Amino acid sequence: MSDVLAVAEHRRGELRDVSYELVTVGSEVADATGGDLHLAVISGDVDAHADALNVEGVDTIHTVDHGEEFNHDVYAQVVEQLYDAVDPQVLLTPNSVNGLDYGPAVANALDLTYVSDAVGVEFDGSTLTATREMYSGKVETTTEVEAESVAVSIRSAEWPATEAAGDAGIEAFDAAVDEDAVKSTVKGFEEVGGGDVDITEADVLVSVGRGIEEEENLDLVRDLADALDATLSSSRPIVDNGWLPKNRQVGQSGKVVTPDFYIAIGISGAVQHVAGMKGAENIVAINTDPNAPIYDIADYGIVDDLFEVVPALIEEFEG
Ligand code: FAD
Repeated sequence: MSDVLAVAEHRRGELRDVSYELVTVGSEVADATGGDLHLAVISGDVDAHADALNVEGVDTIHTVDHGEEFNHDVYAQVVEQLYDAVDPQVLLTPNSVNGLDYGPAVANALDLTYVSDAVGVEFDGSTLTATREMYSGKVETTTEVEAESVAVSIRSAEWPATEAAGDAGIEAFDAAVDEDAVKSTVKGFEEVGGGDVDITEADVLVSVGRGIEEEENLDLVRDLADALDATLSSSRPIVDNGWLPKNRQVGQSGKVVTPDFYIAIGISGAVQHVAGMKGAENIVAINTDPNAPIYDIADYGIVDDLFEVVPALIEEFEG
């Protein structure tokens, strides 16, 4: 029997989807050996977040009410203490900016083997097998770890979220946070030139690439996004040109997205772009080039001029 401790993530009052994905992975790993899944909810609106995360597969939720926002020094201390209290064999954290902030520090302090950015995790009680991707997803590697305890950071959007109601016990964990060791404080947030849009949370993305030619033509895709109640995203050249802010970029050096619909308009489907959107449920491509690589992964393709197709779609959906 091997227990799992997973650490939920929230940002600015909202639980991140990866928290529910961690439950999916965590319960699979715990179930493989008949162990329990423990979930840590640290800071933020802990009661509301614990209620929301009381989903199938979670055995115990540990809440630690300490400040509103993520804080590296608090998380590192609390996760270490929870780890000691729960004594799991596997520690799961998100492979996010926050998760990568405290996860390696905790693993180092606890002398755990650390595997980052897993897209697959299996465990038989003694060997943990993690799948990881290299070269923007072109190569998959398998990492086997035989150790008493392993820490794994998981890539978001690689597992389905668990949402069915559960019956976990919710316990307040009395963490002894050493305030002298808390060296940083969150003073506030400033959006970097992109407003408050989070393309990773959108159900429908209208994504635009270099085929749009001119900045003024972006209004066309904005109109389509409005007609579909969708969010606008883009490939990298659009961001490099300064036509859209960085937080709209999909891909290897942008965001990884998993919407229900991803509509790629004038995007060729370079491997660095595909790395960010291949997990979309349905991919629609509009491209004049029938040999564009985007068609290798598209569910639906319209081989035509976007300046003809997009106005027709707007008319269809607005009408
Ligand atoms: P293009 O490759 O120029 O494609 C434009 C497409 O539009 C073509 O396929 C063309 O047929 C089509 N088209 C042209 N006119 C029309 C029309 N009238 N109607 C319909 N179709 C038309 N890219 C990303 O997107 N995200 C990343 O995160 C990213 N990270 C990178 C990281 C590194 C280290 C490197 C080296 C590159 C990265 N790139 C990234 C860049 C990537 O390699 C590609 O250059 C980029 O994705 C191409 O963007 P695009 O598809 O918009 O442009």
